[in-house]
Amino acid sequence: MTTVVLGAGAVGTATAWYLRKAGHDVVLIERQMEAAMETSWGNGGIIHASEVEPWSQPGMPTKIIKWLGQENAPMLLRYGAIPHIIRWGIDFARNCTPERFRANATSNLHLALHSLKSLQEIGAETGIPYDRATRGVLKIYRSREALDNAQRSSDFLAQHGLTYERISPDRSVEIEPALGHTRPTLAGSLFFVRDEVGDSNKFGQGLAAACAARGVQLRFGETIDRIETAGGKVSGVVTNKGRIASTTRRRTRGVRARRGIRCRQDQTARQEPKQRLRRVAAGLGLCAVLGLQANGRISVKLRADARSPADRPTLAPMQYTR
Ligand SMILES: Cc1cc2nc3c(=O)[nH]c(=O)nc-3n(C[C@H](O)[C@H](O)[C@H](O)COP(=O)(O)OP(=O)(O)OC[C@H]3O[C@@H](n4cnc5c(N)ncnc54)[C@H](O)[C@@H]3O)c2cc1C
Repeated sequence: MTTVVLGAGAVGTATAWYLRKAGHDVVLIERQMEAAMETSWGNGGIIHASEVEPWSQPGMPTKIIKWLGQENAPMLLRYGAIPHIIRWGIDFARNCTPERFRANATSNLHLALHSLKSLQEIGAETGIPYDRATRGVLKIYRSREALDNAQRSSDFLAQHGLTYERISPDRSVEIEPALGHTRPTLAGSLFFVRDEVGDSNKFGQGLAAACAARGVQLRFGETIDRIETAGGKVSGVVTNKGRIASTTRRRTRGVRARRGIRCRQDQTARQEPKQRLRRVAAGLGLCAVLGLQANGRISVKLRADARSPADRPTLAPMQYTR
């Protein structure tokens, strides 16, 4: 089985790396001549695993409406875009309740800590030089009120694995002497000691090289024109250099047959039906109860999910050690 990964940014190269480690044949297709030349090139390089609060948060819909049409708004929404994002906007607003915000922030935190751990593991295994610095990240505040609010959010996340410290202006300057001249204006800081910084472009390129050394086929300078689907499944990928067909996995008397190409998107379509049903139900605020009938068929009952959104299942908590 060969798996095709589309795009060699930070996500694509890491996906190719882990697939190869898991024993797959992997083809990584990228339109640029090198890896990590787009978003994974021009970013801030902050590995801020503690910055997990989503934009969908209490009070945000009102703020966005107030900012409507302002080109310099922190979250820019243009009038012309509204008809195209109504569905998305409703979902966004639904997720701005305190319960949804807490549940989403917690899921993000688990994912971020897992990503940080994976980054550290890859770094240790490959030795990729990417200007890594591990002195933590300092978030500084000039208003006591803003600092108190941020601390409340961090206190909640601390129950789920976030490590942080509230520190005084003096201690902030001790950690970052460049803040010296701002000392009189500081209310204090939150110090996220586990966070890091690094050059995402260097990391992506180093990881692509490590992938190639492990046998991943890198196809740079190749542009994906479209992903073909048939019957709701990915059937192929068309690039400027040709078509890659997806081979359907066939089950013949318990034997999984045929070597072929499987596209990354295809894996989503192959998720366990039960899991998919539960996820869809959870998204609708319902709970799917699955049962096995005497005739071997599976029965499905949907009922309102009585649990608060914060109590509904999210990603399993990860063990995190530095
Ligand atoms: C201004 C800015 C600052 C940021 N700062 C930070 C930060 O400090 N810390 C942080 O963690 N994150 C930051 N991010 C977010 C982070 O950069 C992205 O989440 C991350 O780079 C996304 O990686 P990716 O692999 O999904 O996408 P990309 O890096 O964009 O990779 C996608 C790849 O797919 C390729 N591709 C696209 N279309 C095709 C096609 N048709 N055919 C072939 N190839 C194609 C592209 O060339 C590209 O290489 C920032 C983002 C921005 C925009």
